[in-house]
Amino acid sequence: MAFAQAIAIFTITVSVVTFIAFFGRLPAFRNTPIGFCHRLLVLHIPSFLRNLDLKLSNGRVTNGSARLGHYLMYEKHPVVLVFFLGLVTASAGLFLPAIWHLLPLHHKLLVMAILPQPYYFTYLSAKRNPETFISGLNHAAQMRHYPYDRILYYPGTYCKTCRFLKPPRSKHCSICKSCVSRMDHHCVWVNNCLGRGNYKYFLALLLSTSIMLAYGAYLAYMTLSPLVHEHYAKYERWYKYKPEPGADMTSWGTYLDMKLHYFLMYTSIYIDAGGVSASGVGLLALLTWPLPLGLLGYQLYLVYAGMTTNESSKWADWRDDMADGVVFLAQRKLETMQDYRPKVTAPDDSSSSPSPIPTPPPTPPDDEEPRTTWPLESRHVLVRTTNGQPPTRLPSRIASVADKDSFERVWDLGAVENVYDLGFFDNLLDILRH
Ligand SMILES: [Zn+2]
Ligand SMILES: [Zn+2]
Repeated sequence: MAFAQAIAIFTITVSVVTFIAFFGRLPAFRNTPIGFCHRLLVLHIPSFLRNLDLKLSNGRVTNGSARLGHYLMYEKHPVVLVFFLGLVTASAGLFLPAIWHLLPLHHKLLVMAILPQPYYFTYLSAKRNPETFISGLNHAAQMRHYPYDRILYYPGTYCKTCRFLKPPRSKHCSICKSCVSRMDHHCVWVNNCLGRGNYKYFLALLLSTSIMLAYGAYLAYMTLSPLVHEHYAKYERWYKYKPEPGADMTSWGTYLDMKLHYFLMYTSIYIDAGGVSASGVGLLALLTWPLPLGLLGYQLYLVYAGMTTNESSKWADWRDDMADGVVFLAQRKLETMQDYRPKVTAPDDSSSSPSPIPTPPPTPPDDEEPRTTWPLESRHVLVRTTNGQPPTRLPSRIASVADKDSFERVWDLGAVENVYDLGFFDNLLDILRH
C-alpha cells in the first residue's frame, strides 16, 4: 500500500507543479491562487534560496545554478523536448509489452495509429518553419497579412535587432533571435517559437497528446480490470472507509479524505494486478491527460477571442487600466483609413504602346502600412493617461490618426473592437491555413 501511495502522491505532486509552472503565468490566472503559486515558484522561492545561499556560502551554489537556470530559461535548448519524448517513449516501452497480449486486434491497430501522432506533431512544431520567422526575404509579404490595430500594434515600430519594421502581430524572440510572425509564445516544450505557420501543429500536438494519454489510461483500465478480482481479497480491511473519530461526515474535508482513501485503495489493487509497468504508467496517463487538454481549451478560447497568448497579456494590461478609469477611446479620422486613401492607378498608356503586360501600381518604398489582405480595419484608437483626465497632448503617432474631439472614457474591453477577431470559425480557418 505504501508503495502505491507514494507513486500516487508523487504523480499528483508532479502534475500539479508542472501545471503551475507552465500555465500559472497566463493572464487568465492573474490574481488567482494558481497565479500566486506560480509567483511563489518562479520568483519568491528562487530569491529565498539565493539569499540563503548568499548568507551560507557567499553565493557559490547559486552562481553555478544561475548559469544553468539562465541556460534553461533563456537559451534555445532541447532539454524539455528530449524529456517529453523520452518520457513518452519510456512509458510506451514499459506499458505496451505488459498489456499487448491482452489487447484485441482493433485496439492494437488503434495504438499503432494514435501513438506516433504526438511524435509527428512535435516534429512539425519544432521544425524551423520559414513562414514563422520573418526575414528580409519574406518581410514585404509579412507586412500584408494583418493591419495595425493602433491598440496593441502601431506602424513605424522597428525591431532594433532585425532592423526592419515590425509587421503587425509580430514579436521579436530573444531566444530564437528573430522576429516571429503572429507570435503566440516561445514554447520550451518544442524548443521553438509558435506563430504563423506552426501554431496549428501545436494545437494538433496538444490534442493528440491528450487523446494518447486518455486512451492509455483507458487501455490500462480495460486490460487490468478482469485481473483485479484476484487481488481484491488482500485489501479487505480497506473496503470500508473509517473516518477519524468525531469527524464531521458532511464536511468537504471528510468527503475528500474518503475519495482519496478509495483512490489509493484501487491504485494499490491495480498496481498489484498490473505492476508499475502497466498500472503505474496507466495512473500517470490518467492523472496527466487533462493537462494538454486544459491547455488546448485555453488556446481555443484565445482563438475564439481572436488573440495570441502574447496579445492576451497586452489586452489584460488594457483591461486593468480600463478598470482604473485611465483609458480613453477615440474614433479614427476617416482619411487615415486604408479604404479611404486615394487609390494609386497605373497611368493609362494603352494608346501609345499596346503592351500586353499591365504595369503594376507603384508601391511607395517607405510605405509603413501597405494594404493588407485582412478583411477588417481598425476604427478606434486607445490612449492611457496618467491622471485619469482626457488626453490633452497626444504622441504624434496617435495625433495624426485620431479624431481629437471624440475621446471618451472606456471602462471595459467590450467597448473596443479587436480587428484580429473575425469570429471563431474564421479565426480558426486563418490559423489552419497558415
Ligand atoms: Zn526582430
Ligand atoms: Zn522563440
